[in-house]
Amino acid sequence: MTTTPQTIEVNSRRYRWMQRPVVVVCVDGCEPAYLDAAIAAGVAPCLARMRAEGTDLLADCVVPSFTNPNNLSIVTGAPPAVHGICGNYFFDRELGEEVMMNDPKYLRAGTVLAAFADAGAKVAVVTAKDKLRKLLGNHMKGICFSSEKADQVTQEENGITGVLDMVGMPVPSVYSAELSEFVFAAGVRLMERHRPDLMYLSTTDYVQHKAAPGSPAANAFYAMMDKYLAQLDRLGAIIVLTADHGMNDKHGADGAPKVIYLQDQLDAWYGPERARVILPITDPYVVHHGALGSYATVYAPDEAAAAEWIERIRALPGVELVLTRAEAAARFELPPDRIGDIVVVSEQSTVLGTSASRHDLSGLDAPLRSHGGISEQRVPLICNRPVSGIASGRRLRNFDALDLALNHAAA
Ligand SMILES: [Zn+2]
Repeated sequence: MTTTPQTIEVNSRRYRWMQRPVVVVCVDGCEPAYLDAAIAAGVAPCLARMRAEGTDLLADCVVPSFTNPNNLSIVTGAPPAVHGICGNYFFDRELGEEVMMNDPKYLRAGTVLAAFADAGAKVAVVTAKDKLRKLLGNHMKGICFSSEKADQVTQEENGITGVLDMVGMPVPSVYSAELSEFVFAAGVRLMERHRPDLMYLSTTDYVQHKAAPGSPAANAFYAMMDKYLAQLDRLGAIIVLTADHGMNDKHGADGAPKVIYLQDQLDAWYGPERARVILPITDPYVVHHGALGSYATVYAPDEAAAAEWIERIRALPGVELVLTRAEAAARFELPPDRIGDIVVVSEQSTVLGTSASRHDLSGLDAPLRSHGGISEQRVPLICNRPVSGIASGRRLRNFDALDLALNHAAA
């Protein structure tokens, strides 16, 4: 019989071995106001109980407040400077082309999930979109699949078969609330049938991009989620819930998105093909946000140009912060080789685009809500049990979720 270690060290942090199953839930785009509104409306009794009798904290996510950098931070317990994933895209100067960062080869750190699995823990990961699955499950022994491709699982690739039968739901549309419901339903079934020691559930922000806190669609989503959380709670799991980022309205009173088209602006100032604006929010699924978020990076021909451009971009209405590469890497703990010469963050109600002609907004069937900036940095960090030993004044991060669950939650 093998004995399990008492603690595991990953990315210079120590985690205690679990005494009971631990579930970390990343609710995509969960601005704290969604929970407040759902609880106030009386549709989320489990969440209400978690906050009242367990632990109710707020934490800061990683900026850029995008999905992949934050999901990877949560599972590695570290910022992007350590794990390397700071968006969906960066510009590879040596290749001279824009490169997608979805491939696990861009990961520079191991995950806490993989380390526990290597030490003998039963680990399971369920994500909504398949784009995250390979990153989250990198080098991890155990169960790992997405709702999006739940009909294509194999023992070899996903560590499980027959997911549709197990969950009792068809494969949902990639643009639906059901894609996230599938994640929770699968999580409950896995807990009943496999009882993983450590489980990570990660949803998609389709609903949050369309529906504001307290709206009927939002409350319905959180009521659905609450039902599954209650089941996981009854099954004896320690649950820590956090978010990859918040979500805000990015439009004016007329409903039209408030956009700074940064590539157009720089082209107008300095001529075409001098600046290269990269929006790391861009991904294959852009219908619900038109690739518009509150964060952009700019590549300039040289340092002198970057310094000049920074002053001018700073003066644009709707811009919150403009930093050099070094400043941004230090302030937001980002890998300097994967961000531009300039990092631009826009204010809460404003987004950054490249050229107007490159954004297809025809798929936006509701006024734009999005994320990416400092204005979406506050996220919930709640647990169904009390926690102890958190130093007062400590700046909590969403990537402290595993630390909270394993090291601080009452067993
Ligand atoms: Zn997200």
